[in-house]
Amino acid sequence: MTESWKRVKCPQCGNENPRKLHEEADRNSVLYYSMQGTPVYKRKMKCGDCGNLFKKN
Ligand SMILES: [Zn+2]
Repeated sequence: MTESWKRVKCPQCGNENPRKLHEEADRNSVLYYSMQGTPVYKRKMKCGDCGNLFKKN
């Protein structure tokens, strides 16, 4: 088994510690609305070191 976690790196400070990178919902970009009418947001990464928000590939 190889690790499936794709390495994410903060483009601003170079932090690539997964414990300091958190995925969160980008409330400005709605992907679609579910059948219940609740919005499903795009995901983005937040750097715990510098607070930078960036897109995950
Ligand atoms: Zn950073």
